[in-house]
Amino acid sequence: MTKEISCDVLVIGGGPGGYPAAIRAGQLGLKTVLVEADRLGGTCLIRGCIPSKAIIHAASEFDHAKAASEGQSPFGMTISATPELDFKTLNDWKAGIVNGLSSGVAGLLKGAKVDVIKGWASFSNAKTCTVTTDDETVIIKPTNVVLANGSTETELPGIKTDGTHILSSRHALDLIEQPKSIGVIGAGYIGLELGIALNKLGTDVSFFEAGNSILPGYDSELTRPVQAYLDRRKISVHTGAQANSAEIKSDQVHLTVETSAGETETHVFDKLLIAIGRQPVTSGWGLETMGVDMNGKFVAIDSQCRTSMSGVYAIGDLVGEPMLAHKATAQGECVAEVITGQKRAFSPVAIPAVCFTEPEIVSVGLSPDQAETAGNEIIVGRFPFAASGKAMAMNASKTRGFVRITARKSDHVVLGIQAVGAHVSELSGEFVLALEMGAVLEDIAHTIHAHPTLSEALNESALAALGHPIHIKAG
Ligand code: FAD
Repeated sequence: MTKEISCDVLVIGGGPGGYPAAIRAGQLGLKTVLVEADRLGGTCLIRGCIPSKAIIHAASEFDHAKAASEGQSPFGMTISATPELDFKTLNDWKAGIVNGLSSGVAGLLKGAKVDVIKGWASFSNAKTCTVTTDDETVIIKPTNVVLANGSTETELPGIKTDGTHILSSRHALDLIEQPKSIGVIGAGYIGLELGIALNKLGTDVSFFEAGNSILPGYDSELTRPVQAYLDRRKISVHTGAQANSAEIKSDQVHLTVETSAGETETHVFDKLLIAIGRQPVTSGWGLETMGVDMNGKFVAIDSQCRTSMSGVYAIGDLVGEPMLAHKATAQGECVAEVITGQKRAFSPVAIPAVCFTEPEIVSVGLSPDQAETAGNEIIVGRFPFAASGKAMAMNASKTRGFVRITARKSDHVVLGIQAVGAHVSELSGEFVLALEMGAVLEDIAHTIHAHPTLSEALNESALAALGHPIHIKAG
């Protein structure tokens, strides 16, 4: 059976970009249809941010219990038996969180009167979309289209994922048995987050990174505490290593890499995880028929998320870096208002980026180097968590972590804030608010931060930039 429908807004993709766009469009009274081929929630909720953070949390709990069982609890906790972990239960617990959130998204869309169609959307021109569902073919004629097709894992030429031995991040998040050893190709944030979690759960982990250091894109001051953690845990990191091929022999993966010295090495693991980045989903759904301009591999948009085709908008991972859920969501909320003619533009001062590594890293705005390269004369303040009472009380002061603030010397306008340390992801909101509000160092230095909290480190870093910190020596 074929039916034809029309709508004010057609959203493709039910990820953190698409579903907020649809909800906001529905709230604004627009007749809205959302098409999602998979489950509502997209990469982030189903196979990205949320399941990874659930596993990271569980892994840290397990690691603490293991340390206690080995007599290494700093506050004297002992556990007489060696803790064990049932991967199947861990996986079920994680699936429960994902399922609950995905149903929640369905409820929110329903509440906003958005019609959800499950199936693969394919365009024959910019305003004609066909979806084949389980029981019918739906032809949709929208007035406006929001493309939020997202991204997928980048494949490594020569090493194909099979879901059994050679895994993508989505496979690694669904493991129901613990691998004894795993090689991780790519030491970006996804590879490191998953690799560190698996190591805490007891897996022997090795990283292979083509670049010169872990977390390419973050400066060495920020990555040093993470590298120090990897060193302490004896997790090997092979930098300058080019993964060439992988063969499965006797239920194990034999990985061949070329080192920076030009030598060929073979490493053997139970599993191999490929985590070398993500690609926008630009093929298989008729993008080429829509007449939109591209910006390299991404769909090109202007500051109102408009593509070059009238009435066609694009958001999220499909339109480029940073490929992060909160950017997609902010664009989704914005684009619905643009469609209704409101004066909105997507022009954030900064988009926070967090690595849920050990310790965590958060970066908002410019690093000192970036600020100088952009032509600013700067002042920088740092405050170490080693001097934070709350970090000490949480046994989180020995991670070599700190908060770092960069401001323009002439007027003290804050240009960037970064932090490394346990739980610093939760500080990202204050960091980005400071930049969005155009804060100067004095605004932060004179804002009373509750004691004892990790957030006091931001206050102290601003005081340090002004030359008079209280809890560390000036200078
Ligand atoms: P997606 O979430 O990819 O959603 C796109 C949706 O569109 C998909 O559900 C897809 O099925 C659907 N779709 C595509 N084409 C069609 C079609 N033709 N018809 C119908 N449906 C279609 N980001 C963070 O901010 N923080 C994190 O901690 C974080 N951790 C991550 C961890 C991992 C392991 C991974 C893989 C990613 C992580 N990300 C994180 C990135 C984040 O998941 C993405 O940036 C975000 O999901 C992008 O949202 P989106 O809506 O643009 O696209």
